[in-house]
Amino acid sequence: MATRSKKAKTVSEAELVQLTSEKDYVPQSAGLAEGDQGPDVARLQHYLLDFGYMQAPNLEPFGAETRGLAEPPAAMGVFDDNTAQALESFQQFNGLPVTGKLDEATLELMNKPRCGFPDVAEFVLQGSKWNKTHLTYGYQNFTPDLTQAQTRTAIAQAFGLWSAVTPLTFTEVPMGSNPDIVIRFVAGNHGDGNNFDGPGGVLAHAYYPPPGGGALAGDTHFDEAETWSVNLPASGIDLVTVAGHEFGHALGLAHSQVNGALMYAYYGGPHRKVEADDIAGIQALYGSGKKWYGWENLGGILTSGIGVSSWAANRLDCFVRGTDNRMYHKWWNGSSWLGWENLGGILTSAPAAVSWGPNRIDTFVRGTDNRMYHKWWNGSSWLGWENLGGVLTSGIGVSSWATNRLDTFVRGTDNRMWHKWWNGSSWSGWENLGGILTSAPAAVSWGPNRIDTFVRGTDNAMWHKWWNGSSWSGWENLGGVLTSAPAVCSWAANRLDCFVRGADNAMWHKWWNGSSWSGWENLGGVLTSEPAAVSWGANRIDTFVRGTDNRMYHKWYA
Ligand code: CA
Repeated sequence: MATRSKKAKTVSEAELVQLTSEKDYVPQSAGLAEGDQGPDVARLQHYLLDFGYMQAPNLEPFGAETRGLAEPPAAMGVFDDNTAQALESFQQFNGLPVTGKLDEATLELMNKPRCGFPDVAEFVLQGSKWNKTHLTYGYQNFTPDLTQAQTRTAIAQAFGLWSAVTPLTFTEVPMGSNPDIVIRFVAGNHGDGNNFDGPGGVLAHAYYPPPGGGALAGDTHFDEAETWSVNLPASGIDLVTVAGHEFGHALGLAHSQVNGALMYAYYGGPHRKVEADDIAGIQALYGSGKKWYGWENLGGILTSGIGVSSWAANRLDCFVRGTDNRMYHKWWNGSSWLGWENLGGILTSAPAAVSWGPNRIDTFVRGTDNRMYHKWWNGSSWLGWENLGGVLTSGIGVSSWATNRLDTFVRGTDNRMWHKWWNGSSWSGWENLGGILTSAPAAVSWGPNRIDTFVRGTDNAMWHKWWNGSSWSGWENLGGVLTSAPAVCSWAANRLDCFVRGADNAMWHKWWNGSSWSGWENLGGVLTSEPAAVSWGANRIDTFVRGTDNRMYHKWYA
């Protein structure tokens, strides 16, 4: 057991600048604890200084708040109380057990490649953002690992992750035009006081918007010691993923503590998309830039609400009951509306519809005998009606979480919610899920083995019950005053958008962004049915309602 050095001295500012510009900072073995000494302790201290867990001068250009951080170590190479305090905050920020010791789990995470932007939770300039939405970028140089065309395509794709969910646009300009964001591929000491470290370790870093990064504001540097790749599977470090992450910093985002978010500090392979946590962060700074369009009058004479599904991007299939109680189908093929197609049957409810794969549609209705009936499109023809039994006192909610999987939900004669599913080869019996329903259920799936259902309760509020892959939740009260059944759709993992008719007969919207529920947004209109909703892509929602003239109306978010 090492003992504390009696010769320990305070580290000067100049020494700290020197130490934090050396990059030999990943400790070699686990087990270090307070009182230990040696080069491995110094490496641990370098790591904690570099990534924002102790007060250090290299944090300043990143706009990082040093107040509240652990003091620097009294001596490099001596595991003192300051070092333990910094290690504890590292463990806490990254969701590890807080031991204050360099245990195996902590060392394993430290060995992963990551972003060079510090993790400090508080930033002096947190919330700093560009005061314009049309930003420019330019290349000071390119990587020899890729052609310039490959780099340009990858960088544009990375910017596109953020422009898709904000009003921001990004345009390449020559360096002579003074671009907002300067892109460099550089190794080792490249003049900004944050030297790169050779292959692995730090992959890249970027600086906050003005005034945060000073002259470096928005600039994004990639470690040329890495092998940059644009292939999938990756043959090196995926440039789209790392650039997408770094541009998040260049736009004003700090690191996310959500493992799996694009803004998570550690690189775990190609991840070319923004997650709910990333979207919430960037939209808090710049807004979504997206809006609602409509109402579009699609005609028809409806005697029910609408069922809607989508089996491809920019594809919509709507189903309604006509004046003859038959089911009618109208669809959008990407360029125009077609229909109405008469699909027969005698309906005593609105139709429900879902798609589990390309060119596949499954519809469900209640028949005159109150049984559930199923009719489906297999890509070339309509089949059914198949009698699925039950005694229904409502329309149907339907969702699908996998190819050839169907989950249906109805209200029974006891006003409970009942569930019947198709597992790819046979139909289950009816499962009683409880509750006291005053509407048809709505259902959606945002991922494998995930189902979210919504109903109106006896208090006219919206209630939520979900399947997490192993069990059903209780009923969550989401409030509101509903005068119809709810509708629900999802355009991303862990995203839910609910629509209802309110007491004023307008359509109201409430959504889950992955971490919390919004309030109720009034979308207007005068509805004479419950809404229907579907999504065919990220940030895209299509809703359908019956108007006071019994026509079908369409309102969409893009
Ligand atoms: Ca590196």
